[in-house]
Amino acid sequence: MSGEHTSAPVAARVRRLEERLIEAGVVGEEQLDAALAAMLKGASPVNGARIVARAWVDEGFRARLLDDANAALPEVGLSMAGGIQEQRLKVVENTETAHHVIVCTLCSCYPIGLLGPSPSWYKSEAYRSRVVREPRAVLAEFGLELPADTAVTVWDSSAESRYLVLPRRPDGTAGMSEPELAALVTREGLIGTAAV
Ligand code: FE
Repeated sequence: MSGEHTSAPVAARVRRLEERLIEAGVVGEEQLDAALAAMLKGASPVNGARIVARAWVDEGFRARLLDDANAALPEVGLSMAGGIQEQRLKVVENTETAHHVIVCTLCSCYPIGLLGPSPSWYKSEAYRSRVVREPRAVLAEFGLELPADTAVTVWDSSAESRYLVLPRRPDGTAGMSEPELAALVTREGLIGTAAV
């Protein structure tokens, strides 16, 4: 992806907002710090990879995950309740004929608990605006060339709703254990900018 993302103006705006909330007595500095720490505790793409590996080996879990991800996550010791309020998670499954990719066109909403802090390109104006208009071109820039008959769906995240891509299980992995499968899954695969 081209386009350099600078987080400085956003960071300054966030800090001003924090100061106003504290001045107004809405929250205390310690509460804010505690909420941030809780959100980031254990946040890593390892979590998303574990979810995917379980879905690949356990058909029942896969079905429950696609049906209601929030209800299925505790089966692998995870939840979406890490932040101030529980966010809805929808897991979207790649197939031979369908590919999914996630974005937040408005800002940078992202399932941080399952993927860790988002990469800077995810927050960039270039990605947010272009992936909606020309997803195939953007995916090609990430090195992901999709067949012409694959339907590409772009999912726009919001404050209440987050998405996670369930990539296709690679060929030749039939004999692999669940941890071995999890090690194949990348952050980009969970966003949809890579195949796995
Ligand atoms: Fe956002």
